Amino acid sequence: MRSLQIGLYGIIIKRFSYGLSLKQAAAIWCLSMIVQYEAKSRSAIKRQRAGTTRGMPMYEISIQTVFSAAHRLRNYQGDCEALHGHNWKVQVTVQARKLNDLGLAIDFKLLKKMTNETLARLDHACLNDIAPFCDMNPSSENIARVLFEEMKAGIGAYGVSLVRVSVWESDNAWASYFEG
Ligand SMILES: [Zn+2]
Repeated sequence: MRSLQIGLYGIIIKRFSYGLSLKQAAAIWCLSMIVQYEAKSRSAIKRQRAGTTRGMPMYEISIQTVFSAAHRLRNYQGDCEALHGHNWKVQVTVQARKLNDLGLAIDFKLLKKMTNETLARLDHACLNDIAPFCDMNPSSENIARVLFEEMKAGIGAYGVSLVRVSVWESDNAWASYFEG
């Protein structure tokens, strides 16, 4: 819409080289005004819709769990390049617009079970030996993204949306992945 508007302005500016009469230029000018009005109306409708969504109820549910694993950051050129271990804390957060008959968005126990099942292959392992970390550095960021991608569909099947996975390497250092 915006490019159409700019195009129409361009025609008006170059009206002499296009051989347009004053009347024709005026008609095009009117057309460009209509295009501009349409564009403003559309953005107003969009804002109105966004506002309506913003006011809707939303529940956010999180669980935390822990797994133990070793890793080393390839090419880090520091102490994290050497093999070392962490007790990784993992937080999984989901959102729901409504609750079931029990007043739950999703059972905490179910969410934790699904998370622990996803983590099972990483627990007490050397992450660098496990796909996809054989090629990709097992950083907190990459672990958070891989967990998110592995859990998204399974969690979605329960009518809630996975919004964020956070992975702590230590009490004071963590990374989160979400899809904006
Ligand atoms: Zn580390």
